Amino acid sequence: MNNSYTNEEKIDQLSKRLQQNAQSRKQLEDTYNHDYQVLSDLIVKLTHACSGQDHELDNKLVKLRGLLQRNAGMAELESAIEDAHQIIQRHTVTVQRQLKQTNQQANETLDYLRQQKLPKSLRTELAKLEEQMDSPSIAVSHYIPILLGLLNLFTESAAEIVGYASDDEQKPPTKALLELLAQVEFDGATGQLVQRIKVQLAKPLTTAQFTELTLQLIKQIFKTINDERQSAQSFLLELNQTLGLVQGALQNTLEMRGEFDVKSGELNQQLQSNMKQLNDSVQSATQLAELKTQVSEHMRSINQALQQKFSLEQDERRNFEQQYAKAAGRMKHLERQIEQYKRQLAEQKFKSLQDALTKLPNRAAFEERLEVEFERWTRYKEPLCIAVADIDHFKRINDNFGHIAGDKTLQVLASMLRKSVKSSDFVCRYGGEEFVIIFPQTQLKDAVQRLEAAREKISHIPFKFKNDDIRITVSIGVAQFLQSSDTVVTVFEAADKALYEAKRRGRDQILTA
Ligand code: GH3
Ligand code: MG
Ligand code: MG
Repeated sequence: MNNSYTNEEKIDQLSKRLQQNAQSRKQLEDTYNHDYQVLSDLIVKLTHACSGQDHELDNKLVKLRGLLQRNAGMAELESAIEDAHQIIQRHTVTVQRQLKQTNQQANETLDYLRQQKLPKSLRTELAKLEEQMDSPSIAVSHYIPILLGLLNLFTESAAEIVGYASDDEQKPPTKALLELLAQVEFDGATGQLVQRIKVQLAKPLTTAQFTELTLQLIKQIFKTINDERQSAQSFLLELNQTLGLVQGALQNTLEMRGEFDVKSGELNQQLQSNMKQLNDSVQSATQLAELKTQVSEHMRSINQALQQKFSLEQDERRNFEQQYAKAAGRMKHLERQIEQYKRQLAEQKFKSLQDALTKLPNRAAFEERLEVEFERWTRYKEPLCIAVADIDHFKRINDNFGHIAGDKTLQVLASMLRKSVKSSDFVCRYGGEEFVIIFPQTQLKDAVQRLEAAREKISHIPFKFKNDDIRITVSIGVAQFLQSSDTVVTVFEAADKALYEAKRRGRDQILTA
């Protein structure tokens, strides 16, 4: 029968289309899995970039990566992302609280100043400073002691200008300011200003001039703090927004996939039932005309379903691509920012432990290291010594040849001291013209031997200032950790006392506690 053959042919075509359809659906599912993978790779990258900011955050990020790797469901992912989100928020709050404290301290000083009868020009400057102090910053902790020190010096000298100080003619506290400035390395505009100010401090200054210099420094440091605050805040903001965006994109993708599965399943069922009806009709049709109508009706219905399915798939795909492009672009931008931010933090940490002038570790680094060595000594009782070294009559170098010559001398002596002891010995600039050396795993007599070599070498450095040949010497006090009652404080004090005694007995010598 010719007609029924044609119908079979049609059914055959239809079932081929159905097969194709199933295939394209499979492809779409594969694409989905691929997209999910790409998205989760991006999140993994993001979490790597964020690490190292906060211990708790790191833990959560490791967990989030684990979930992504094993294709976890939305509920689990969402809660992990939410956790990370919250920690970042908490981090922001802590930072802001710390900064607020700083502000408070600075404000108290300002309050005090406001109660003084200051000249009008100073009052105007103070008012400007107050405006700048509205809110605080993240990586400024090492500037804070400097800032407070500066405010103190400013207070003292300002009080003197208006005649509050008791002494008649006091010299401005130049030495205190220099010591303060040696505590941290300043870079950029602040560094240049500090350099200029050091030169000025070498000349005799009136208290008014000194006050003016202090004020310049305070203003510059405030500006640095403000700049850093802005970059820190915009970073945290960006981080939070991006996390929110990624979370949204992920949720959308997964929800749409679920929705798509349902709709697509319904369509498949519809198609199948259409095919079945078509088949039934062909089997039971007795009249050609009847068959024709039925077949064309079913064909229309099947066609419609296929078209619906096709457009559903297309919408779906477009939607995903949009979401994905948006999240990816945002993430790239953030990655760059995070890298930059991490570099900044690392540099700041390094700088705050290093002395700017001599490039030796500074006092903060010494305190950190001594804690570690003391802990080790308590536990293992391996020998441990510390020495305090102070340059003899250093003030004369400054007085006779100027501060710049003094600075150069400090650099040369620091480098010689560093070279004269073992590389495992810890040499730092404790402040001013004082150095401290930690000798881990070293007996007192060995420490003294190394220090003796250093003292000898230093005393033979041929300094030449202007036309004078100058010999510079150091005095040193050494002490060892011995009794169980010894602490970092008692042993340091013992070494310092020995140093004092070495000075008293004529300098250029080493004494043990
Ligand atoms: P002594 O032998 O008793 O130690 O005499 P001294 O002159 O070394 O002692 P004093 O502590 O009175 O003076 C130390 C001087 O070191 C005073 C200060 O001007 C100077 N000084 C401290 N830090 C620096 C610095 O960073 N650069 C320069 N150029 N001088 C500094
Ligand atoms: Mg001294
Ligand atoms: Mg000295």
